[in-house]
Amino acid sequence: MSLMKHEGASKGILLAAFAALLILGGRPLFRHRHSTVPIVIGPGVTRVARLSDFSPSLKGTAGDTTVFVLEGREPGGKALIMSGTHSNEPAGLLADIIIIENAVVERGTLFVIASFNSSAGRNTRPGDGYPLYFDIPTDWGRKRFPMGNRDASPLDQWPDPDVYIHYPDKQLLSYIDARNSNRTWPGRADGPLMERVTFAAMELIRRESVDVAIDLHGAETMFPVTNCIVAPERSSKIATLASLTVKAAEGFDSHVEPSPPGFRGLSHREIGDYSGAAPFLLEAPIPFLDQPTGPKTVGLLLDGKDPFLLSLAAKKKLFVPYDASGWPMDKRVGQHLSVMLEILRQYSRKTPGREIAVQGVPRYREVVANGTGRFFHDPSKADPKSVVSYR
Ligand SMILES: [Zn+2]
Repeated sequence: MSLMKHEGASKGILLAAFAALLILGGRPLFRHRHSTVPIVIGPGVTRVARLSDFSPSLKGTAGDTTVFVLEGREPGGKALIMSGTHSNEPAGLLADIIIIENAVVERGTLFVIASFNSSAGRNTRPGDGYPLYFDIPTDWGRKRFPMGNRDASPLDQWPDPDVYIHYPDKQLLSYIDARNSNRTWPGRADGPLMERVTFAAMELIRRESVDVAIDLHGAETMFPVTNCIVAPERSSKIATLASLTVKAAEGFDSHVEPSPPGFRGLSHREIGDYSGAAPFLLEAPIPFLDQPTGPKTVGLLLDGKDPFLLSLAAKKKLFVPYDASGWPMDKRVGQHLSVMLEILRQYSRKTPGREIAVQGVPRYREVVANGTGRFFHDPSKADPKSVVSYR
């Protein structure tokens, strides 16, 4: 009898210890998932919409996200700038927040979606030891951002299929790509959550007659498609002009990679095939994502310095120039902004009547010289009506 009692007590203690571990371990993840980052909408933002406004099946889901609309004084063309398709490539997010907080559109309209895969922005990758947050220094203190993952959280889209069958092409993709919003374009209204996200964006593009769609990413230094503009046939002339101009005028490389027609589900392929818009996907090098690096620290994320990549660079294994200065975040954010502005400028030159003219956005050299944080505004000093969450 006493032995049974003893056993019952041991089981109780074990259960309590297990519950305590669950709560202790789960709390930081819960806080990360539900965190908000206040940003200050700038003078150019004329409307704040939701992606579900374009497809009701997204309403009330973790896939819904904020769409910032910046309408110019004069009519013209329209562009959609997306970041956070892959939430573990945050240079695009920082570039988009600079646009939302600072841009003024003179002509045409900008739609900005800073956290495209909102669920991935609330996810992490414990197996790789990802940091949950990273801080960007500003003139008024540190601005904290949650670090997300490449794929949507299984809490929001589950279960995973054995194989992801792309819609509508039926191409067989890896199971994990069902939660990768850069494999689920053009999507469908009643598909899995990620297909509903890309479908809503396609609806925005089609209904608003968007001319240019730019998807901001980061790629490994050991991956050949890095430091580049990925463009299908219809975008290739503008991409080439933008690439040559930033090289000549601003001194950095961003070469053009053709979008392969046989590889389905990607924004740079499907947006052009299923709408009238010209798509561009911008890749900035992100050493943090390379496999053979040291620990995945905030330092590596922000400065891109890693001794293993340095020795691989000496053996010519990287696809970008790499030295002890690493590949800092400011360089990546600056590249995204300059290439984006140059694509809009070149498109405007070639398409009379559909010009998109944007002021107030810093270019590469300005961001590298002053730091990304210089262009963020202090929410505590702003009119509370202009402080919103970016997702
Ligand atoms: Zn990406």
